[in-house]
Amino acid sequence: MSAIDLAGKNVLVTGGSSGIGAAVVELFLALGARVSAVDIQPPDGSKPDAATRLQADVCAEQDCLRVTAEAIAAMGSIDALVNCAGIPDTYTPTLSQSAQSWQRIVDVDLTGTYLMCKAVGTHMAQRRSGSMVNISSIVGLGGFPRRNAYGASKAGVIMLTKSLASEWGSLGIRVNCIAPGYIRTPLVETLIRENKVDTGQIERRTPMARLGHPREIAHAAAYLSSEWASFITGATLPVDGGWSAFGGAGDIGAA
Ligand code: NAP
Repeated sequence: MSAIDLAGKNVLVTGGSSGIGAAVVELFLALGARVSAVDIQPPDGSKPDAATRLQADVCAEQDCLRVTAEAIAAMGSIDALVNCAGIPDTYTPTLSQSAQSWQRIVDVDLTGTYLMCKAVGTHMAQRRSGSMVNISSIVGLGGFPRRNAYGASKAGVIMLTKSLASEWGSLGIRVNCIAPGYIRTPLVETLIRENKVDTGQIERRTPMARLGHPREIAHAAAYLSSEWASFITGATLPVDGGWSAFGGAGDIGAA
């Protein structure tokens, strides 16, 4: 193996029309994979690449089962799953937050990941082979005020990953997780416009002094999905410019 090679791999990517998921689709196609991409919006023909575009709400188990069957029909099998579908928190103070808001975020970000792992896991268990990559967050590694539902969901994704890796290792299924820092995607661009995210503050707090690019998460997902990671399972890989490594007070320059 001289380079990461996904030729011949059939890959299902959720959240594949935007941000990190779109970067995963683009990179995996470039590395030779066949890709089916799932989004909550129905395909509108606007993506000119070779991916098969499918629709599902990952919160709905029937949707997850249907879309798994559709991806298998389109590609013949699923060798790798990359779960990128997700929504941000509302940044509402907890004492003003509605239980419905909490529930919706947990439904998409945690239960949606679980349901897709379960649906595709049934297929991979029959084949006794497969890789899954889930997307957590630095918000799943440390506490952030006003982001309780998102943080709990993303911490849950880390433990879901460890649990499934422990249960399915003997079935030949590897399950890993990426914990991105702040990545410039449509989701984060919206949070910046709404003044919920301060890029200057993030740059000062990040050892590498910048936000990440979606393709930097796709690189990690490609590695974890490839034979290069053949003995890695249950791992959480921070891809965050050093955010989670830094434990000092205040800005990185002042620490
Ligand atoms: P994004 O640009 O908003 O993309 C999210 C994608 O998920 C969209 O394609 C969206 O589809 C899809 N989606 C949302 N709800 C869905 C549902 N119920 N069923 C199916 N698809 C659904 O966001 P992103 O920044 O790339 O985030 C991708 C993942 O990375 C999320 O899990 C996010 O929490 C995580 N993450 C992001 C960052 C960051 O800084 N950007 C950091 C840490 C973790 P539509 O476009 O059709 O709505």
